[in-house]
Amino acid sequence: MPPAANRCSRCSEPAVVHLIEPERRLCASHFIEDAEARVFAAMMRGQMVSPGDRIAVGLSGGKDSTTLLLMLHRFLPALGGSLIAVTVDEGIAGYREETITAAKALTDELGVEHVIVTFVDIFGDDLDRILAGREGRACTVCGVLRRRALAEAVKQIGATKLATGHNLDDEAQSVLMNVLRGDLPHIIHDTSTGQPGHFVPRIKPLSVLSEKEITTYLLLRGYFRDLPECPYAVTALRSEVRSMLAGLEHRHPGTMGRLLQFRDGVRRSARPTEPKGPPGTCRICGEPTTGEVCQVCRLLGRKEKFSPPGA
Ligand code: SF4
Repeated sequence: MPPAANRCSRCSEPAVVHLIEPERRLCASHFIEDAEARVFAAMMRGQMVSPGDRIAVGLSGGKDSTTLLLMLHRFLPALGGSLIAVTVDEGIAGYREETITAAKALTDELGVEHVIVTFVDIFGDDLDRILAGREGRACTVCGVLRRRALAEAVKQIGATKLATGHNLDDEAQSVLMNVLRGDLPHIIHDTSTGQPGHFVPRIKPLSVLSEKEITTYLLLRGYFRDLPECPYAVTALRSEVRSMLAGLEHRHPGTMGRLLQFRDGVRRSARPTEPKGPPGTCRICGEPTTGEVCQVCRLLGRKEKFSPPGA
């Protein structure tokens, strides 16, 4: 029998994790139950799923999206929604192939419909070639194109919401990055609400779990796979912010949660702005945008009218 300090706070099994706020030690099965209960409660609080919703899950095959699909697959029957997994293949040599194999294996096992969209199909080229000469901005370019690719897929499959695997670390990093860039509008503006007829709402059920908790969850459920990291990740400001925040969280537990409280407080106290009208359309590709030319066409250097291949 392990000493009392190493026993699960809910049963007599050996504890495998020590969590704070509230402080508790949990065995494997109680940690899985605890993590799932927190995500389910966040979904109920945020009214993330309504009966009849068709939820598109952004599934890269990595840790976060694997956990997201596993949990939604457990919860959705009770919530009255259905699932479809969407994988975006950006075309990153030596990286994406393995995660796509993992994504396919998971959807096959769970019996979830799976759609793969590629940058080549949507933008006419893969990320490696699109980036040539501007690898230092890889994540900015990739982020804009990925959002468009997911929006295209969501439209094609008729999903009512898009679920992404952003975790607590990702959300805290975004807050700090916006502070470091002096980007107050991005802290205040909640882009997840969607716009009828243009963008479906986005939900982030995992934003209550840290990256460490997600890794532990996958290890304990037997789904952890050591997959390669994106080769462009090291060039990103996010990579530096990630290391800094991980150190702060280790020395001062709760730092990341407090950053999200700060963001939510700023949003609540910001003066409400005039409701925006529907976006206009890009004069090149016809997609919704607030300017004359959308970010995607600007990043791809398009000058002439463009229709996606196969349109
Ligand atoms: Fe794209 Fe950057 Fe993520 Fe790689 S790390 S998949 S380049 S956003």
